[in-house]
Amino acid sequence: MGDCSFATAINCMDGRVQEPVASWIKDHFKVDYVDEITDPGPDRLLAGHDPVACEAIRRRLVISVEKHGSRVVAVVAHHDCAGNPVDKETHIRQLDGAIKVIAEWQPEVHIVGLWVDGDGKVEQVHAHPA
Ligand SMILES: [Zn+2]
Repeated sequence: MGDCSFATAINCMDGRVQEPVASWIKDHFKVDYVDEITDPGPDRLLAGHDPVACEAIRRRLVISVEKHGSRVVAVVAHHDCAGNPVDKETHIRQLDGAIKVIAEWQPEVHIVGLWVDGDGKVEQVHAHPA
């Protein structure tokens, strides 16, 4: 366990996006494993400061950062999200808001905002720090 490296994905529960996101993160950040924190439309929950969802996400993120030593956190939004059916522009704006919430909780980690399109292609749309 001690030799493994972890990153964290705050991802949608949608089964179409888990694998593309985990692969992208492993490729880009050279980590062995990606801890998955999943909810329906987490970009909306975080950006909207949903109190119950935020606390549940925050508690799970603490485990990933403190027990697994994760230093990279990806927040994910995607095309055709049933939990958050808004247009791409709104998703991108919500991702930015979500990153600000996470940065307050975990100022030491690198945070990226990822967009997954209808073909499962992953694109980085935000980074904090830039
Ligand atoms: Zn979704």
